[in-house]
Amino acid sequence: MVRVIMLSPPGAGKGTHSKWLTQRTGATHISSGDLLRAEVECGSDLGRQVASYTERGDLVPDELIFSILAPAVVAAARHTGGYVLDGFPRTMPQALRAAQFGADLALTANAVIYLTAPEEELISRLLDRAQRDGRSDDTLGVIRHRLAVFTKQTAPLVDYYRGRGILIELSTDRPEAEVQADLLDGLQARGLMPPLTAPSRPDHAPSAGANAAEDR
Ligand code: ADP
Repeated sequence: MVRVIMLSPPGAGKGTHSKWLTQRTGATHISSGDLLRAEVECGSDLGRQVASYTERGDLVPDELIFSILAPAVVAAARHTGGYVLDGFPRTMPQALRAAQFGADLALTANAVIYLTAPEEELISRLLDRAQRDGRSDDTLGVIRHRLAVFTKQTAPLVDYYRGRGILIELSTDRPEAEVQADLLDGLQARGLMPPLTAPSRPDHAPSAGANAAEDR
């Protein structure tokens, strides 16, 4: 079962491709942003604390995000054996702690999908989403701040995961179907997913190897 981290600047398609990948694989989708927004909506003290960061486009403190995410990852591993982590980790301390946590529980991520798109494209997608979904942090000023936060705090994770040999980098500035095909190829190349189609050879047909043996 896949255990995947989705890493991308806001607007690069992390949510869309995470949902698609969970449908395709049966792994559990865990979105840090969705979990945080649910906490804000229920109006708890924790939710008010969370909102003071998310509304400005700042990251919530590592300690807080870990306390919300860790139980979700453990539950996912129990239920489906796999996860697609959408939006976590997002800082080097989160990544290092997640790696330790994963090693302790035999839940280490086996691939990191890094989605990219040009900055102007990211901004225009987020402004479109603002009209559709009305997310309070999708205003131009907050979007620009979130992109700067990504560059400063999250971008260093790209080299970290590349160094560990588990990074799959994909441009999303093209049709979704192409991104998805490349995503599957990347996972298959690493032996994390079965091939898309079974070989078309009928069961009773001799294999090339068997023919060769008969010919000798
Ligand atoms: P986007 O990728 O568009 O910024 P998300 O839904 O992933 O949207 O995140 C929304 C907000 O939730 C972030 O701007 C940040 O404030 C907070 N957040 C999400 N994940 C994390 C995380 N791993 N660490 C800290 N803050 C987070």
